[in-house]
Amino acid sequence: MSTFTCVECGRMFRGQARRTATGRRVCTKCEQGVLGAAAGVLMAQRQGADPVAGAISTRGWLQRIRLLRGKDQ
Ligand SMILES: [Zn+2]
Repeated sequence: MSTFTCVECGRMFRGQARRTATGRRVCTKCEQGVLGAAAGVLMAQRQGADPVAGAISTRGWLQRIRLLRGKDQ
């Protein structure tokens, strides 16, 4: 079984790394965060807002949803 270190959270995982659009190796959890951040950038751009702020807020929103659902380990 191979292992990898997630570049996003810095933790070690067993198995296959997920690849982001830019080819970074991340865990499943961080991949979802990255996708959420990308969606936030697109939303913010459409609304003429700061893309980075949009990414951060959407990502935080996703993490909060996951906590509410109790899936955050
Ligand atoms: Zn991670």
